[in-house]
Amino acid sequence: MVCTDRTFVMIKPDGVQRGLIGDIVSRFERRGLKIVAMKMLVVSDSLAKKHYEEHAAKPFFPSLVSFIKSGPVVAMVVEGRNAVPIVRSMVGATSPSNSSPGTIRGDLALETGRNVIHASDSPESAKREISLYFDNSEIATYKRIDEQWLYE
Ligand code: UDP
Repeated sequence: MVCTDRTFVMIKPDGVQRGLIGDIVSRFERRGLKIVAMKMLVVSDSLAKKHYEEHAAKPFFPSLVSFIKSGPVVAMVVEGRNAVPIVRSMVGATSPSNSSPGTIRGDLALETGRNVIHASDSPESAKREISLYFDNSEIATYKRIDEQWLYE
């Protein structure tokens, strides 16, 4: 059965500047995940602070917020069975020195503060983050032609 689990993904400013949008989107597409919303934007100060509010008391919070606002990002809603854990496993560990080769950070990043991509860490965060970045009307409903071969 086709599944509509959703997660929120953002290619951070370093990923956009380094020309990695295509590589990253392609990984999700080839895995069988469905991109149901996508847009480029420059994150405002208030949105950056809301997005990362759980880290507000951490020492890296100011540099994280200023980095996230430093250039355009690509925000996405990605759909598919177990989208949250599947995408997190594709993204790899927060610190690229711990992320396995084959993961996005393990293949494309060197430092925690320049780790290329964000992905929601739970279905609850996914719901919250999707609603921060997208209106319901911006999220598409469609069938991928290969769904019958992706799902039992
Ligand atoms: N971060 C950082 N320094 C740290 C820990 C985290 O700059 O010591 C940044 C990093 O970009 C990370 C983001 O803060 O991706 C959010 O941290 P979290 O622990 O939620 O990691 P993630 O879920 O992105 O793997």
